[in-house]
Amino acid sequence: MPDTPFEFSQIFAEEMDISDPLVGFRDKFHLPTLKGKECLYLCGNSLGLQPKTVSSYVAAELEAWAQKGVRGHFEGENPWVFARKPAKPALSMLLGANPDEVTPMNNLSSNLHLLMVSFYRPKPGKYKILTEAGAFPSDQYILASQAKFHGFDPAEALIELHPRKGEHVLRTEDILNKIEMHSHELALVMMAGVQYYTGQWFDLEQISACARAKEIPVGFDLAHAIGNVPLELHKWNVDFATWCSYKYLNAGPGNVSGIFVHERHGHDFQGPRFTGWWGHDEDRRFLMEGTFKAMPGADGWLLSNDHVLGLAALQASLDIFQEAGMNRLRSKSELLTGYLEFLIQKISKDQSTLQVITPSKPTERGAQLSLFIHQGGKKVFDQWTEQGVVADWRNPNVIRIAPCPLYNNFTDIYKFGKILENSFRKFVEK
Ligand SMILES: *Cc1c(COP(=O)(O)O)cnc(C)c1O
Repeated sequence: MPDTPFEFSQIFAEEMDISDPLVGFRDKFHLPTLKGKECLYLCGNSLGLQPKTVSSYVAAELEAWAQKGVRGHFEGENPWVFARKPAKPALSMLLGANPDEVTPMNNLSSNLHLLMVSFYRPKPGKYKILTEAGAFPSDQYILASQAKFHGFDPAEALIELHPRKGEHVLRTEDILNKIEMHSHELALVMMAGVQYYTGQWFDLEQISACARAKEIPVGFDLAHAIGNVPLELHKWNVDFATWCSYKYLNAGPGNVSGIFVHERHGHDFQGPRFTGWWGHDEDRRFLMEGTFKAMPGADGWLLSNDHVLGLAALQASLDIFQEAGMNRLRSKSELLTGYLEFLIQKISKDQSTLQVITPSKPTERGAQLSLFIHQGGKKVFDQWTEQGVVADWRNPNVIRIAPCPLYNNFTDIYKFGKILENSFRKFVEK
C-alpha cells in the first residue's frame, strides 16, 4: 500500500480502504449528520468524534454513583480516588513518557498556568519567553498574563518567531538560531507542538535540545499534537507539556486535559508550585494533615479530586488508541493526508486560488492541512458546508481540513476532492 501512486478515482480510494489495517475503526465512532445526511467530517482537529463506547463507560460510573453514593470513592473495581490511573498507560504511550510523568487533570489553559508557576522563573535581565507568532489566543493570553504577574511588560517579555518574508511556516534553523541569539535573556521556550493555524509540526526534539543546552526550560502545548503525531517527550528531555483531550483524542467537548512533567523534576522538585490536596501523598491524604508532601511525578501537580465522568469518556477513547497503536495510526495518517494533498494539488493546479500552507514534508505535519484561499474565501467554504463538509474556517482566509485516521477513510478524501473540483469549476468560471 505505501508505495502506491495516488489516483483521483473512486476505485482507487475504495481499494485503499480495503487494504487499510484500521478499516474497522471507523465503525467504533458516531458519525454526525448534517441536514439528515451523514456528513463528511474533516474537523477532528477541533472536536474529535464520539466513540460508541463512551456511553457505556460513562453509564458505569453513573451506575456506581447511583448504587454506592459516597462509597464509590473507595469501593468497586475502579474506586474514584484512583480514577485518573487507568488513563496513564495510554497517555504514556501517546506522549512517549513514563507513566508517572503524566497525569490527567483540569483543562489545558489552567494547566499551562500551573506549569508556568513552576517553570517560568523570570529574573530581571532574564525574563523573556520565546514562542511562535500567531500562537493560539489562549496561549498568548497566558504567556502575557504570566509575564505581567511577575511584573514584566508583556510587549517586552514575549519574543515571537515569525516565518521569513513570503513564507508561511517556521524553519527549524531559524527557531534554533533565535534560541541561541536570545539565550542570555530567555527564561522559557514555550511553543505549540503542532501549530493550530498552519498545521506545522515543530521539531520538538531539536528545540528541546537547543533550549536545554542553554539551560532554558522548555514546554509545549500539545493540543494539536497528542493522538495526532508520535511523541517522545521523555527522550527529548522536554521539561513540561500539556494538551487537551477533545481534539484528536476524541474524549468529548471540554473534557479533561493533562500534564507531562519530566521525571527529573517530578521526583525532586525544589521550585515553586501551586498545591492542592490531590497532589498530596495519597497514603496520607485522608489523614487531613496540614503539611503538604507532594506525590512523586506529575501527580504532585494535581489540585483537585478527579473528573470521574469525564475520565470515563476519556478512557473509552484511550482504549481505542491502545488497540490501534500509534504506529499504525501514523502510517495511515501520512497516507490520508498525502492523498488529500495530492487531490488538492491536482485540482487547484497552480497556487493562485488555493494554496496549502502546511509543510509538505510528512515529518513536519500531522493530519491537518491548512488551505489559504486567495479567491472566494468564506463563500467557497460555505458552499462546501452546503454539501455536507464539516471543516473549519479561520479568519482571515484559512480553511483547515483534518482527515483523522481513526474514523476517516480514503473514500472521504475522494468525496471531498469531488466537492472541491466542483466548487473550483464554479468560481474559476465566474
Ligand atoms: C484547543 C487549544 C486550546 C484550548 O484551551 P482549553 O483550555 O482547553 O479551552 C489551547 N491552546 C491551544 C494551542 C489549542 O489548540
